[in-house]
Amino acid sequence: MTTTRFAPSPTGFIHVGNLRTALMNYLIARKAGGTFILRIDDTDPERSKEEYVDAIKQDLEWLGLHWDRVERQSERLDRYAEAADKLREMGRFYEAFETPTELDLKRKKQLNMGKPPVYDRAALNLSETEKEALRAERGNGVWRFKLDHERIEWTDSILGDISIDAASVSDPVLIRGDGQVLYTIASVVDDTEMGVTDVVRGSDHVTNTATQIQIIEALGGKCPRFAHHSLLTGPQGEALSKRLGTLALRDLREQGVQPMALLSLMARLGSSDPVELRSDMAELIDGFDVSRFGAAPTKFDVQDLFPLTAKHLQSLPLADVADAVSKAGVPDELAEDFWAMARENITTLGDLKGWWELCRDGAEPLIADEDREFIAEAVALLPEVPFDAETWGTWTKAVKEATGRKGKALFMPLRKALTGMERGPEMATLLPLLQVIRARG
Ligand code: GLU
Repeated sequence: MTTTRFAPSPTGFIHVGNLRTALMNYLIARKAGGTFILRIDDTDPERSKEEYVDAIKQDLEWLGLHWDRVERQSERLDRYAEAADKLREMGRFYEAFETPTELDLKRKKQLNMGKPPVYDRAALNLSETEKEALRAERGNGVWRFKLDHERIEWTDSILGDISIDAASVSDPVLIRGDGQVLYTIASVVDDTEMGVTDVVRGSDHVTNTATQIQIIEALGGKCPRFAHHSLLTGPQGEALSKRLGTLALRDLREQGVQPMALLSLMARLGSSDPVELRSDMAELIDGFDVSRFGAAPTKFDVQDLFPLTAKHLQSLPLADVADAVSKAGVPDELAEDFWAMARENITTLGDLKGWWELCRDGAEPLIADEDREFIAEAVALLPEVPFDAETWGTWTKAVKEATGRKGKALFMPLRKALTGMERGPEMATLLPLLQVIRARG
């Protein structure tokens, strides 16, 4: 059975980059009728915050990415300790005592000599007595996993065939000196015990994957299928990492981006399939194929979300936006007509308020000097209230006959006088709304 997981560390709000990971894992699970786990990677007690756990859940719920169950790494520490013991017994785990400064120095020396900065395994040569002495002097060491120096290979669903020389990678630290278990081993234990079959994550994890494959094998687990998606860049190809803070899902929500717009974009961006606005999750699931994604960095432009949001809103019946329409101040009896007019003219639901204010209060008229007389004549010809869908046609016909104006010279000054704008809604739909409101007082 297909099982995937989204495994954020609750150390901040999730952003578009995380969303890509979450969505791909979600879609793979749903497409296969499998299980989607939300795994909270909270082994770091200092940086993990409960408020971020809540925020992550809210963000996923907003998007409709529902999980089947939640797992928390902080509740599974005994499982990781057991795995660590197993690796120790197998002779694949060793304690090392170098300080960060010493490691840094070693790396610099290696680089100077044109060698890759890989940990030199000096700790493997320490005698028990030397270790005792170091422990007494520096406290407990870190625990490193001893990689087998061979090529590590897998077929990545996005990157294709990968082959990494284990000798070019440092033996990963799995447990810190203070006893804190690190993600690299925790993730492997979880993936194995939870039967995770497919892991999609960012290509910044490729080296992790190589080491994790060896850890999984050492522990007797079965390797999941891996896919590493490319990292997002800004529209110009610039690194997005510094700006991701402003691309948090909650910021996009604040700006009025609609979930379907965001999901539709992220389910296709960077793939060979075109970005298409989808109307619901079922369509997204149906149209998703992880193997269509490419290895090249993916350009993301937050501005692309707004036309998609507008298009999505246009497709919605009043029932789906009734709350927002009512919140904008529109009385229930006008909601249907108001939405029919407004939905063609908004980018986000945040624009509803402005349109309602225009209907309710009218606009500051925009009248050119040469049109003053014309507007006065036209106003005198306004039919009796109540107005309806025919009113605009009847009225402009009468104005045309009386003034001799036609086309743009007829319609534009009227539009500008009534709305204060050169462009906007169909006047036939807007006029009854303006009038109804005025007639109400
Ligand atoms: N907590 C890890 C991260 O957010 C999870 C990576 C993974 O999917 O294995 O980078």
